[in-house]
Amino acid sequence: MIEYAKQCVEQDDLEGVINALKSPMLTQGPLTGVFEDGLCRRTGANQACVVSSATAALHVACLALGVTQGDIVWTSPISFVASANAARYCGANVDFVDIDQGTLNICPLALKQKMRHASELGDLPKVLILVHMGGQPTHLQEISEICKHYGVKVVEDASHALGARYGATLIGDCFYSDLTVFSFHAIKIITTGEGGAICSKDPLLVERARLFRSHGITRDPERMVFAQGDPWYYEQLELGFNYRMTEIQAALGIAQLEKLEKFIKKRRKIAKAYNEAFVDLPIEMPIETAGSRSAYHLYIIKTKDVVERRALYDFCLDKAIRLNVHYYPIHLQPYYRNQGFKVGDFPVSEEVYGRIISLPMYAGLSGQDQSRVIDVIQEFYR
Ligand SMILES: *Cc1c(COP(=O)(O)O)cnc(C)c1O
Repeated sequence: MIEYAKQCVEQDDLEGVINALKSPMLTQGPLTGVFEDGLCRRTGANQACVVSSATAALHVACLALGVTQGDIVWTSPISFVASANAARYCGANVDFVDIDQGTLNICPLALKQKMRHASELGDLPKVLILVHMGGQPTHLQEISEICKHYGVKVVEDASHALGARYGATLIGDCFYSDLTVFSFHAIKIITTGEGGAICSKDPLLVERARLFRSHGITRDPERMVFAQGDPWYYEQLELGFNYRMTEIQAALGIAQLEKLEKFIKKRRKIAKAYNEAFVDLPIEMPIETAGSRSAYHLYIIKTKDVVERRALYDFCLDKAIRLNVHYYPIHLQPYYRNQGFKVGDFPVSEEVYGRIISLPMYAGLSGQDQSRVIDVIQEFYR
């Protein structure tokens, strides 16, 4: 069976993990810091804080920006549910901005109109969480200008986009945002099994993220309220969580990060081969906007309609190729319908959901397996 995604774990990864297991520290320790420094080097971030998942990273990002009960957070309907849930963890209300059907990212025009309207009503969001779907960077410049104008903070959910570029900026350097979040879930660009990170150019935001990562506890006497000088004394300043990453995971992350460029190049090579193979087929291929470099976490095509999409899925499965769909619109999930959302709220997202399907795309996909996928899809359309 050829799956739509698969991790790439090699000998050097195993050696790193075994060494970590032999070290005196298993939970957060020196390797965590090494991994954070490596992430900064690769993404241009000033500071990074690694955590137990991107879900935790999104939660901590919202907390660091002060999201709380009664606040509003906007995100994209076409994302993994965690992009929206993070705001709910803080007690905030979630709303969505419809997407651009080409890139599957938040549409700057829809954002502008929604902001103007919200501003008139006095219910602007505190934070916008944008998503670089499939690894294709969002229109960051337009979106950051709109958000700046209305005083809205920007978090990039870059779970798909480690290694992507937007103009002269790297995803993670936060040139256009306050914070950027990455995922190291098994099938993302690089993996730590489970894991995530928060990057920023603002050291104070990352310091707050670090506090929330570990119970809201500090051991820094400078930050204490009742510093007592006792070596064992620590203080809890906020209601934090245990979102720490283990040294075992950090060791895997360090080894994987070394291969980031190799992984991205391979993914881009696979995308190019698909693009060339499908030029004459009646499908829409993923868009890479001028001046940007997609990380190609996903290779999402658009079929004619919902019937053709299902037929293609079944046809491929029958030939031992398991495709997948990213994503069912978040606002239509039962949990969010219970918050008042309904069919028709975000028409572009809903229409395009019916046609999208993700083809096999991962660094370890062999040329032979990709040829098989191409043959089967060409056969389907013949
Ligand atoms: C995978 C993913 C997440 C959650 O990542 P975890 O590390 O599994 O918590 C959040 N947002 C998007 C867009 C994702 O793809």
